[in-house]
Amino acid sequence: MQQQAEDLIKVLKSKGLRVTPQRFSVYANLLTRYDHPTADQILSDLNQQAPTSSQATVYSALQALREVGLVREVLLEEGVCRYDANVDRHHHFRCRCCGAIKDIPWDAFERVNLNRLPPGMQAESYEVTVHGVCDRCQ
Ligand SMILES: [Zn+2]
Ligand SMILES: [Zn+2]
Repeated sequence: MQQQAEDLIKVLKSKGLRVTPQRFSVYANLLTRYDHPTADQILSDLNQQAPTSSQATVYSALQALREVGLVREVLLEEGVCRYDANVDRHHHFRCRCCGAIKDIPWDAFERVNLNRLPPGMQAESYEVTVHGVCDRCQ
C-alpha cells in the first residue's frame, strides 16, 4: 500500500500537479473502481473513510486530474457526468436497466473507417457505446 501511494504521488507529480490530499484520495479512489462513478459517488465513498471531503473539493480535484489527462469524463446519460481513470482508448457498454457502465477493450471491434465520413466532418476521435442489458439485470 505504501509503495502504491508513492507510485501514485509520482504519477501526479509527473503531470506537474501539486499533490494535495484531495487530489490524491480522489485519484486513488477512481483507480480502484471500474464503475465510472459520479462525483457524488466518489464523495460518499471518501466520506465513509473519513468525513472530510466536500463536494467542491472533489469537483476541483476531478477538474485538476482531468486537465492533466489522468481522468476523463464519461457522458452517456443526459446531465450525468461520470469519471473514469482508464484513459486508454476503450469503448463502453451501458445497461439500460441499472445504468451500469462497463469498459470494452479498444480492439474488441474492427476499426471504424473515418475516411467514409460525409464531407465537411473532420474527425478527431470516436468511441463506440453499446446499449443493452448487463448480466445482473438479464
Ligand atoms: Zn444492469
Ligand atoms: Zn471506461
